[in-house]
Amino acid sequence: MKQEESGLIRFSERLYVLPYEEETDRPNLYYIKGDRYSAAVDAGNSEKHVKKFYRALQESGFRLPDYTFLSHWHWDHTFGLHVIHGVSYSSKLTQDKLKEVMKWEWNEEAMRKREETGEDIPFCNKHIRIEYPDLKEITVTGTDKIISERVSFDLGGIVIDLIPRDSTHSRDSLFVYLPSEKALIVQDADCEDFYHGSVYDQEKLNDMIAFFESLDYEYHFLGHAMPESKKEALERLYQCKNE
Ligand SMILES: [Zn+2]
Ligand SMILES: [Zn+2]
Repeated sequence: MKQEESGLIRFSERLYVLPYEEETDRPNLYYIKGDRYSAAVDAGNSEKHVKKFYRALQESGFRLPDYTFLSHWHWDHTFGLHVIHGVSYSSKLTQDKLKEVMKWEWNEEAMRKREETGEDIPFCNKHIRIEYPDLKEITVTGTDKIISERVSFDLGGIVIDLIPRDSTHSRDSLFVYLPSEKALIVQDADCEDFYHGSVYDQEKLNDMIAFFESLDYEYHFLGHAMPESKKEALERLYQCKNE
């Protein structure tokens, strides 16, 4: 693992990340470098975030992503979508939810109302206000294409698997599995569901643990933290089980 001058961290010849930023809740943006095509995991939380990512890619001499895969619908992973390069993909549930969010108004009153109804949560609005001093700049769009079942993408020299499934964090998760790198990009999926009480749903937790155990990989890549080993991730998740 090595941080390059561009700001990207290199995990392998094929896998890089622009690291997360806590203040604005920007998540890790992953870059998968194939010989013919390249892919990004998540679109970032704003145009500024996407531009920062692309500047770092260009400084490293990398092509801009041909494909962008969304891990789930939350704003910090999707609000940069309108300015990405190439084609975007998500699960059907992510697309459906983004269509709903596209109708949301962005002003203090509308945001407060959504907190009251539980449509949105204070944690998001707090960070949205920091990322967007001018709320009118928020632009929400949907993805170009849908992934409805497990599918492989051959990027040239590396094949990646896209796996849409439920998770403890949201119903619409998309996992990105890189067998050759022994890596699974999980993003927020193994966190609690902050929209529904911030506790682990035990059934979903057991199901997700079984899913992780069924995959052959070593590195567990997260949305807002540095990567863990699969073993560390499973130990952490086992501790979230009710006694
Ligand atoms: Zn996130
Ligand atoms: Zn999330």
